[in-house]
Amino acid sequence: MRLMKIAFLASEVAPFAKTGGLADVAGALPKFLTQAGEDVRVFMPLYREVKKKRLELQKVIDGRDIPLGKENFPFSVWKYGGSLGIYFIDNDEFYDRDGLYGTSAGDYPDNALRFAFFSRACLETLKELDFSPQILHCHDWQTAFTLAFLRYSYGDDPFYTSIRSLFTIHNLAYQGLFERSVLGKIGLPDHLFNIRDLEFYGRVNFLKAGILYADAVSTVSPRYSREIQTPEFGYGLEGLLRQRKDSLFGILNGVDYFDWDPATDPLLPARFSPTDMEGKKVCKEELAKIFGLRGSSTELPVMGMVSRLAGQKGLDIVGEALDDIISLGVNLVILGTGDEKIQDALRTAQKGHPGRLGLMIAFNEKVARTIYSGSDMFLIPSRYEPCGLTQMYGLKYGAVPVVRATGGLDDTIEEYDPGARSGNGFKFEEYSAPALMKSVERAISFYRRKDHWHALLANAMACDYSWNRSVREYIKLYKKIAGA
Ligand code: ADP
Repeated sequence: MRLMKIAFLASEVAPFAKTGGLADVAGALPKFLTQAGEDVRVFMPLYREVKKKRLELQKVIDGRDIPLGKENFPFSVWKYGGSLGIYFIDNDEFYDRDGLYGTSAGDYPDNALRFAFFSRACLETLKELDFSPQILHCHDWQTAFTLAFLRYSYGDDPFYTSIRSLFTIHNLAYQGLFERSVLGKIGLPDHLFNIRDLEFYGRVNFLKAGILYADAVSTVSPRYSREIQTPEFGYGLEGLLRQRKDSLFGILNGVDYFDWDPATDPLLPARFSPTDMEGKKVCKEELAKIFGLRGSSTELPVMGMVSRLAGQKGLDIVGEALDDIISLGVNLVILGTGDEKIQDALRTAQKGHPGRLGLMIAFNEKVARTIYSGSDMFLIPSRYEPCGLTQMYGLKYGAVPVVRATGGLDDTIEEYDPGARSGNGFKFEEYSAPALMKSVERAISFYRRKDHWHALLANAMACDYSWNRSVREYIKLYKKIAGA
C-alpha cells in the first residue's frame, strides 16, 4: 500500500509546549500515524518554552524572509527527531515570549500576525524541504489561515495545487477574531471581508477560513460534530457548519497509553495496575500531603479536577454545589490556571473549607498526574466539551469520572448500572448544581458499597481509548479527501 505524506500543523504539541488537549492530540496522533506507516511531518512555533528544553535541534532552513502585507519577516526552521520529523518555525520577535498565546492579562495583541506568519512559514518550508503532502492537516484557528493562503497566495504555484486539506476543530469557541485591517497586514485581499468569506459580525474570523476552505472539516467527537450544528453550541457558526455537513466528521481523540499508564508513569509517587492497586494508596497519601488535606483524609473519598479555568469548564456550578459536596464527606482537589475571576472565586471558597478543598493555581504536569492517580473520582461538569481527555486519563488511573453528558464526555462515559454492573462512571444532563449533586451522591453511594466500587473501578480501568481505532478513522478520511 502506498504511504501517504501528511503535513500536520498545530500551535502546541506535547511534550514541547502545552496549554490543553490540543497539545496531547498533536503530540500523539502523528506518532500513531507514523506507526501505521504514513509519512508525517509536524510543524509548530519555536516558543521560548521549547527553547528552554534545550533539545538537540538541527537547523534546516536559515534566515529566509516571508512577505506579510507590506513587511518582510525572517524565519529559520529547526528539525527535531528521527523518523517522525518535528519542525520548529523560529522567529524570536513572535515566539520568544513567556506565554504561547498571551499572559494572565490577556491575549497578545499581534496574535493574528504571529499565527498568519506561522501558517505561511509552514507552506514555504514544505516547498523548501520538497515535501509535497497529499494531506495538509490543520488544527484550530491558529493554523486555519494556511488554507486561505493556499487558495489566494499560492494558487498559481504547481507545487501546492495537488495538496488536499483537513481542518480539525478542537474547540469552536476559540475562533481567532480580529479587526478588518488584519487582512491587509497579513497580505490577503480585502474583498474576503464579506459574510460569504471571512467576515463575522464586523470582524475577521480565522476559524471560518478553516471551515470554508478545507476539503473536509473534522472535530474531536461524534457528538460534538452534531452539537456544533445547533445554535446552543455553534457560537454563530452553526449555519456554516450545517452547510458543510456532508464534509464534517467527528473522530474521537485517543489516549497515548505509552505516556498515560499508571503501571509505568515515572511522574507518579508509586505505580499500580488493575491487578495490583497498592500503589494507588501511596498516590492518595501523596495527594493529601501536596494539598494539605486533613489527617483522616485518606479515609475520605477524594474527587479531583484538572482543568483550564474557563467558563466552559463548569466551575460555577461546582462553586454552588461545593458546601454540599464537602458535607457528603468528600475531599475535593482542584488544579488549574486561567481566568482570574475563577481563580479568585476558588481561593475564597478554599478559605471556607480548609483541609477539605485542595487548590493549586498552576500548570503542573506532575501534580496533574498525582491527581489522576490519587483521586477516587474525577469531576468534569463542563458546559460543553468537544472531546475531553481528562475523563479518559481518569478512567485509566482509577479515578471514576463524574461528568456532564455533553460532547465527548457523553461519547466516552456510560452510566454505572448496578444490576448489570456495567458502565464506567456517572453523568448528568442538566447544567445545574442540583443535577451535579445527584450524580456526586450516586457516585458516593456506590463508593461506600465496596463490591460495586470494585466492579466500577475494574470497568473504568479496562476501558480502551487508545489511538489505534481513531488513527484508522483518520487514515480512512485522509484517503477519501486525497482521492476526491
Ligand atoms: P482542554 O483542551 O479543553 O483544556 P482536555 O480535557 O481536552 O481539555 O485536555 C486538557 C489537558 O490539559 C489534559 O492533558 C490535562 O491533564 C491538561 N491540563 C489542564 N490543566 C492543567 C494544569 N493546570 N496542569 C497540568 N495539566 C493540565
